Amino acid sequence: MKRFYPPDAGSPPVGGAADAGAADAGLAAGIAEEISRRLARSAIPIPVGVSNRHLHLSAEHLETLFGRGSEMTVLRPLGQPGQFACGQTVDLEGPKGRVRGVRVLGPVRPLTQIEVSLSDARALGIDPPLRQSGSLEGAVGVRLIGSAGAVEAPGSVIIAQRHLHLHLADAARLGLNDGEIVRVRAGNPSLRPTVFENVVARVSEKFALEFHLDTDEANAAWVKTGDVAHIA
Ligand SMILES: [Zn+2]
Repeated sequence: MKRFYPPDAGSPPVGGAADAGAADAGLAAGIAEEISRRLARSAIPIPVGVSNRHLHLSAEHLETLFGRGSEMTVLRPLGQPGQFACGQTVDLEGPKGRVRGVRVLGPVRPLTQIEVSLSDARALGIDPPLRQSGSLEGAVGVRLIGSAGAVEAPGSVIIAQRHLHLHLADAARLGLNDGEIVRVRAGNPSLRPTVFENVVARVSEKFALEFHLDTDEANAAWVKTGDVAHIA
């Protein structure tokens, strides 16, 4: 379906009497349809999931850090199907300092990926890029320290782009496509109501509906896991 996106802060199209006709009527109908679509979707509650600093490990790094033959232990399942917090934690070491006890998330991935907040990055003395999970272009390195060993992990640290996970059914209900950028309103209205810009919609049959923020973002808006957000 072709959608018409009205400008955020513009004037409605102005036409002289001579221009008024079927085209304008069609435009007006399109705008009305778009507005009602947006009103409907902004009423749908979306659970918030706050991502604390964490890392995904390759099988090779898992063994280096925790010993040959090590396997991830399941501490608890996460909001996304099949994902879990592991019993294992790792210390991160950068040029300026250490961040201790960073949770490993499972399952094992082909590449190690470490997601930190900007506050963590400052404490470590590193300058990671903002990236979507799975996109490690320009990612920076850090030293990982586990219970059985340590390893340099170059090109592995990112700050996660805020994003919305959607199952196919959620995407249909909300009228969103994979990769689409939306605004999400979150936060206690009486404390720090906040609209988050540049939220990437990520659609997969493996996902459950959830709005993911890191701890810096969540604290700024006074939101926590389990709170409810809405598309703005
Ligand atoms: Zn996520």
